[in-house]
Amino acid sequence: MRNPKRAVTLGEGWTPLVRMRGLERRLPSGRLWIKREEQNPTGSFKARGFSVALTVAGEFGVRKTAVNSNGNAGSALAAYAAVAGMEAHVFLPADCPGPIVRECAGYGAFTVLVDGLIHDAGSIVREGAREQGWHDVGTLREPGRAEGKKTMGLEIAEQLGWKLPDIIVYPTGGGSGVIGMWRAFRQLIGMGLVSGDLPRFVSVQEEGCSPLVDALAQGKAFAGRQANVTSSPTGLRVPRPPDGQLLAAILRETGGTAVAVTREEIAEAARELGLHGISASPEGAAAWAGLLRVADQGFVRRGEDIVLFNTSHALKYLPWRWTDVPVVRNYREWKLLCAENGKAESGTAK
Ligand SMILES: *Cc1c(COP(=O)(O)O)cnc(C)c1O
Repeated sequence: MRNPKRAVTLGEGWTPLVRMRGLERRLPSGRLWIKREEQNPTGSFKARGFSVALTVAGEFGVRKTAVNSNGNAGSALAAYAAVAGMEAHVFLPADCPGPIVRECAGYGAFTVLVDGLIHDAGSIVREGAREQGWHDVGTLREPGRAEGKKTMGLEIAEQLGWKLPDIIVYPTGGGSGVIGMWRAFRQLIGMGLVSGDLPRFVSVQEEGCSPLVDALAQGKAFAGRQANVTSSPTGLRVPRPPDGQLLAAILRETGGTAVAVTREEIAEAARELGLHGISASPEGAAAWAGLLRVADQGFVRRGEDIVLFNTSHALKYLPWRWTDVPVVRNYREWKLLCAENGKAESGTAK
């Protein structure tokens, strides 16, 4: 970046890393920390990526941005675009939790629900990028978001006294968090700031959409593309991770694993984290449920350090719907909607 004063920021990052002794009693062995990513601006770690992505975009003179998202990437784009003075178009699956939909609109983004899954929303963004000139900030469509997520890896090392944990438990959807932290750890080792092995990454998914678990089980290059998606509307519901090959390779190379937990296990895990003072989103709760599972299978060795990610807040997932946001199925319907609203397609109404 040429001019640090032009960084697009809302104070993201440097979230607490809290030792959870009470929860450690539930594990056969190991020391547990929770990285409290729900304390970021916009209530999720997505803020880190969008700070960098929009700072970079600003350097290139970008004015119009768009993203497909299960929710938190949408609200992070909305907030950071508001700071940067850019236009934001956010496309979310129609069953996205109401508070998050409301949040996107509240930051002034053009917010539209899509009758489909995150990749259906992605098709709309792709067409709009071609026709409207939007800058596509979808997962791994530009370099900034993964770079921003590297800061999670750098912080953990610093917060643990320049030492890497043995295990990272991360609720995984598109996977840019895993990719970002893996890069950060390799760079820290390369620079000699930390030594030892890379942490073993445990990717936790939900049953009904677990392409990484399937890829590892099938023991070949990334299989992915789960046909019948039945999991709940969270950041984990990504049937086609854009770089599933790399994700699967990271899990294998670090000696990690992937595990899919049930909706019931997630609910129970959220309850348990709540009783230890942590407001966990379903994704953060899934991570705890996943850790209990793999610990049960002997994955955690004596004296090991575990960092578990609570990626968002329970409050963002309150079960109510927001009804005055339009729903479309594809780009053509989006254009019709704009015509009906008498709004310029490019959304100059803002
Ligand atoms: C996006 C998201 C995830 C998944 O993160 P990836 O790095 O995209 O795999 C997990 N939890 C929450 C709350 C999210 O918003």
